[in-house]
Amino acid sequence: MVTAYRGDVVFTPGPERFRAIEDGFVLVDDYGKVVDVVGSLTGQYADADIVDRSGNLIIPGFNDMHVHAPQYPQAGLGFDDELLPWLERYTFVDEAKYCDLAVADHWYRRFLTHLWQVGTLRFSAFATLHGDATWRLIQLAQESGLRPMIGKVNMDRNAPDNLLESTRQSLEDTETLIKRTAEDAPDVGFIVTPRFVPSTTPELMEGLGELVRRYRLPVQSHLDENRSEVEWVRKLHPDIPTYAQVYEHYGLMPRNRTIMAHCIWLTDAERELLKDRNVLLAHCAQSNLNLQSGIMPARRYLEQGLRLALGSDVAAGHEPDMNRHIVASVEASKALRFMPGHEGDQPLKLSEAFYMATKSGGSFFGRVGSFEPGYEFDALVIREDESLLELSVEERLERFLYAGASDAIRERYVSGHVVYRPFAGVPSAGR
Ligand SMILES: [Zn+2]
Repeated sequence: MVTAYRGDVVFTPGPERFRAIEDGFVLVDDYGKVVDVVGSLTGQYADADIVDRSGNLIIPGFNDMHVHAPQYPQAGLGFDDELLPWLERYTFVDEAKYCDLAVADHWYRRFLTHLWQVGTLRFSAFATLHGDATWRLIQLAQESGLRPMIGKVNMDRNAPDNLLESTRQSLEDTETLIKRTAEDAPDVGFIVTPRFVPSTTPELMEGLGELVRRYRLPVQSHLDENRSEVEWVRKLHPDIPTYAQVYEHYGLMPRNRTIMAHCIWLTDAERELLKDRNVLLAHCAQSNLNLQSGIMPARRYLEQGLRLALGSDVAAGHEPDMNRHIVASVEASKALRFMPGHEGDQPLKLSEAFYMATKSGGSFFGRVGSFEPGYEFDALVIREDESLLELSVEERLERFLYAGASDAIRERYVSGHVVYRPFAGVPSAGR
């Protein structure tokens, strides 16, 4: 059987332009996969079950490829600081509180509910170093109906005493969670998550690289975010030429299975390495401005063939809404043109940024983020003020991305199934 979702359909098969079909149908099979997008129901699909969402936009769900779940309560705080003091003053203080499972349970329910609310259906999240709290996040994510990857953070150096683990404990807890996730949380993927090079000793990175090989796991971390951080890594590893090569040296850059957040200050050698490994670069424009880290030269990276997706980087990004991060990436690329040497760079187009937040990020999960045949039907149904219906379908999407609110999202589908509001008693996040 095929189900036909009727509405105004917009998606990006490629980054260059939107594909918009006014009053069209997304045909979805019993396995939740897209069969086709058509303008009318004829021939073999004439008898399809119709889910009528006429007048609503139907777009792919959002994929947030870099977010810190435990930092959710601190979103918006401390942005007079740059990265390293901000970590000390806010992040490490807050993350230490997740040794208390009640704290983890309380905030992780709110975090997941807020992501559901804003239409982020898949994401790649850092938890904290606490095994029990990370397992709670994985359980809650499984219960939510969302489809994330989640990693226990590893850190055995350069952090406060209450946020350090021994190398052995870190590896043991990680392996326990790898097995537990595979057995008991089938909709959640475990992703190996060294916080960043300064937080992980060579012994720990080596052990994590071994786990990556043994279990064929993906990896996420931070790379070339802030110039002080890059300099610190150079001092910690003087024998390895670049920051990216440190991850590579320890087996933490598996081909096609690596997400690196930020990547603002890449050297030529690093760009070549990331391209060779087909690393997904999570561009976090809002975060990079908040912490004065810099502006990723996204246009140049695209021209050089790098693979770019978007990340909210909550809490360094102050809101999880991916429509806002799509806009932030466009704005940042425009601001970059005022910097010496970048005057000739073309800014990102809205379709390119949307593609990053849907199909490009989705590629980390398989065939996700588009409505081409064979893709998972991950979708948002969006209904805005009816007076807007005089706009074209594409203009309505533009308006939603720039000026719309998550209240306009009426339904969310993952792999063809409706995802309902996940947890009773968790209030909506206000704006
Ligand atoms: Zn981050």
